[in-house]
Amino acid sequence: MPQKGQQLDLTSDAKPQAADSSRVGSRFLGIHFVCCDVYSRVYANREQTAYVGHCPRCAKRIQLQIGSGGTDSRFFEVQ
Ligand SMILES: [Zn+2]
Repeated sequence: MPQKGQQLDLTSDAKPQAADSSRVGSRFLGIHFVCCDVYSRVYANREQTAYVGHCPRCAKRIQLQIGSGGTDSRFFEVQ
């Protein structure tokens, strides 16, 4: 058994998202990016004042204000 190093792969797989704790309590919306016809999630910013994200294909930036009282919908289309 000359390849003991393979055991390291098992331990490195234990915590796939160690840096994920920063989004505790944050919300997200489902966004349909019409520009590229793709779906993605957009998360609230640190101040919880807006949802900010970008298209996964063309990186177009979008921002949706929170607290305007306009809608309870959790799904939006973005042109
Ligand atoms: Zn796009």
